[in-house]
Amino acid sequence: MAFINENYLKLQAGYLFPEIGRRVNEFVKANPGKKVIRMGIGDVTQPLVPSVVKAFHEGVEEMANKESFKGYGPEQGYGFLREAIAVNAFNARGVDISADEIFISDGSKCDTGNIQEIFGHDNKIAIGDPVYPVYADTTVMAGKTGVCQPNGYYEGIIYMPCTAENHFIPELPTETPDLIFLCFPNNPTGAVASREELKKWVDYATENKSIILFDAAYEAFITNDSIPHSIYEIEGAKKVALEFRSLSKTAGFTGTRLAYTVIPNELVAYDKKGNPHQVSKLWNRRHTTKFNGVSYPVQKAAAAIFTEEGKKEVQAVIDYYMENARIMKKSLAETGFEVFGGENAPYIWVKTKNGMKSWEFFDKLLNEANVVGTPGSGFGPAGEGYFRFSAFADRENVLEAMERIKNL
Ligand SMILES: *Cc1c(COP(=O)(O)O)cnc(C)c1O
Repeated sequence: MAFINENYLKLQAGYLFPEIGRRVNEFVKANPGKKVIRMGIGDVTQPLVPSVVKAFHEGVEEMANKESFKGYGPEQGYGFLREAIAVNAFNARGVDISADEIFISDGSKCDTGNIQEIFGHDNKIAIGDPVYPVYADTTVMAGKTGVCQPNGYYEGIIYMPCTAENHFIPELPTETPDLIFLCFPNNPTGAVASREELKKWVDYATENKSIILFDAAYEAFITNDSIPHSIYEIEGAKKVALEFRSLSKTAGFTGTRLAYTVIPNELVAYDKKGNPHQVSKLWNRRHTTKFNGVSYPVQKAAAAIFTEEGKKEVQAVIDYYMENARIMKKSLAETGFEVFGGENAPYIWVKTKNGMKSWEFFDKLLNEANVVGTPGSGFGPAGEGYFRFSAFADRENVLEAMERIKNL
């Protein structure tokens, strides 16, 4: 008899986005001809920029010729891309990260989930609430939790509520974690962490020999110069943090797939006897055993975002989304909502009026304004009563959606 991994049975009904999809489809079926504006799922709407497309084509051409054809590449990614990332994403900001500390992958979703398997089963894991649901769900799948309790929290995870009171920045937990997921700029709240804030976490991790798993998927959307883009801008962070980066939101790669994880050579974790081990060695072992690299044309296309032309083009797209965010934030505030985020992140985090529940507001917005957003409660119990609007949308739709919400 074949047995299942029963940890999967602990997972709470479905992933957030299928439920949104179900409700939207139902509405569309019942109301043909009504134009629904989707600002729900965090997916980009603008195409790949010209430099990326050109490099992508060239990569495909190289694959079409015997002389330049490539089979399996290095599992960690091609040197040209790792080098370009080290120089442009880190060294240019005064951060000392080298190419051999960068591991190319096909997504940060996979990396944030997969990273757990190189760490021991007994690690206590701290996770913000609300946040990207992948951290908690993959912790459950890995069997590191008990069941989900009535309050929506899984037994065994240390939750760090992020609310308006703490400006959506988690406080140091009372129970000491071994692994700490931090996501800044944050999905869904749009909150960012200052240098002082991040230093507090780096010091805390240093003191406790914990490791910070820093998700910087939205660093490219930071507009305030004083906000760090990388946790390695904080002294001592290389000893206590690894960092996830993705081209998905940065450069419209959600359908193209390319991300990377930075694991500094000096980052160590311990065996039961207390001996230190290089984390990058374990990740390298995992990567080479379970992953065969990202396709060559995609890596070639990715490297193009670090050329002078590519940088300008990518920045123009980011500016477009951030102008959406500015318009949305202003309009929603004028409509009388309490609004957060949207200044250094492509998400606007809105408090519903009169204590309305997140899903209730979702239905109201869908039915009365035909606008789709994301219920805050889908990101964790502390997100109840909030709603996320994504700035990844076409300008005309943003303007129309804001007009409709004003007239609600
Ligand atoms: C979108 C997103 C990612 C990126 O995932 P990919 O698999 O690289 O597309 C990572 N973290 C957060 C918080 C995200 O919202």
